[in-house]
Amino acid sequence: GSISPRPVKKICCIGAGYVGGPTSAVIAQHNPDVAVTVVDLSEARIAAWKSTALPIYEPGLYEVVELARDGTDGRTPNFHFSTDISRTIDEADLILIAVNTPTKTVGLGAGGASDLAYVESAARHIAEVATSDKIIVEKSTVPCGTADSIREILDAHASPDVHFDILSNPEFLAEGTAINDLQKPDRILIGSLADDRGRHAAGALAQVYGSWVPQERIITINLWSSELAKLAANCMLAQRISSINSLSAICEATGANIEELAFAVGLDTRIGPKMLKSSAGFGGSCFKKDVLSLAYIAETLHLPEVSAYWKSVVDINEYQKERFAKRITKRLYNTLRLKKIAILGFAYKKNTGDTRESAAITIVGQLIAEGARIAIYDPQVSEQQIRQDLTYEHPAEVVKKQVEVFGDAISACADASAVVILTEWDEFKTDQTPDINSMDSAVRKQLVERTRRSHSASSSEGDADFRDSGFV
Ligand code: NAD
Repeated sequence: GSISPRPVKKICCIGAGYVGGPTSAVIAQHNPDVAVTVVDLSEARIAAWKSTALPIYEPGLYEVVELARDGTDGRTPNFHFSTDISRTIDEADLILIAVNTPTKTVGLGAGGASDLAYVESAARHIAEVATSDKIIVEKSTVPCGTADSIREILDAHASPDVHFDILSNPEFLAEGTAINDLQKPDRILIGSLADDRGRHAAGALAQVYGSWVPQERIITINLWSSELAKLAANCMLAQRISSINSLSAICEATGANIEELAFAVGLDTRIGPKMLKSSAGFGGSCFKKDVLSLAYIAETLHLPEVSAYWKSVVDINEYQKERFAKRITKRLYNTLRLKKIAILGFAYKKNTGDTRESAAITIVGQLIAEGARIAIYDPQVSEQQIRQDLTYEHPAEVVKKQVEVFGDAISACADASAVVILTEWDEFKTDQTPDINSMDSAVRKQLVERTRRSHSASSSEGDADFRDSGFV
């Protein structure tokens, strides 16, 4: 159809997490005439979003929130947070579903399939309270075909007078660079049904993004392509990390240097230099769960070879974490009892306080099991968070006895037998941390393991600094 879509006036975002919060903030910033309200089941999370201590750390996030939420530039505030989910849903004409979709832990598909319980509960909530037409947008990363399940739930439970259009609009932001990624996205994908209504709904969402994203970057495609493209993109990023990490094992065994190798390989313009840093393994809430989800989808489609191929990406990652911890132990004469190991960085990558699936949890766990005393410092992760993550997998009394958390790097490193950099925070770069460089004898003579935790293009600066990565 050539008629232009009815402009969106009110947006409700269900889920105030790493995606829902920042995405809604940037939408509100660029659409001052649209009221954007984020809702969540967690009252604590909503209260934090309303305060000066936001529930997540992301460079540049607070400035955008303040602008739209408080109207700091003199504009009328159009960015709100609420625990009144029903009312916010019913007032909105467009609803973003940005709830968590973790790996299922029990029952059919446990350990692989995406758990759609939160998506289902959001859809049921919408069905129960909606009294006017809505455009429903899948922001969460979901298995291919989820829009059909949402459609079924709405059809079965909503009033027959209310019409719903369902769109897929996956989020590609990376933690640590979320605001930059949202302000200048590589692309915005909008998946819809190919009929008039579908195209119309896609047009309405495209208008929202069009207020700051160039038209040529807004891609409208088929609903199923859009759902699957998000999973595929994350899987290919994770696969690249596992590829370079698998090569790092060969490098260490042969005298080749993984940094030189990555540099040389990345000069091939078909391969390119990004996402080619070896590390102690990828972390974060998405890569592992999305790879497992794709592998599970392949399995249910009776494509066992495809499933095995993608599973190997996760297998190599587990292997890399274990190999890394073993290397530290071996380097210290195969015994860590009575030794102190300093751990710099606990977040799964720099510029975030997020520790979900961080390789540090596994690696520190293995060092604890070897009997080491652990001294941890991370610029953004609280002591409480670190202890909670470690006690999830190890007895509380062991963590209490063997782990200390410090407020700065130098104190954590004092008297350590080894200093292990697990997150590439800028402050751990040797040129920016002269204190680590000048740390004398005790630490310097021992071992420094540097590792790359990079999952983002932006962290490729300062390469030379890590050229000598490895044991020194
Ligand atoms: P999150 O856990 O930080 O946030 C999800 C929020 O949704 C939670 O606060 C939870 O309380 C809330 N919620 C769940 N069910 C609800 C309901 N029925 N009603 C109201 N609130 C509800 O998760 P996240 O990291 O923001 O990820 C959300 C989705 O986005 C996932 O599917 C994820 O795969 C995807 N994604 C995440 C990232 C990332 O970097 N974190 C990037 C791209 C895509």
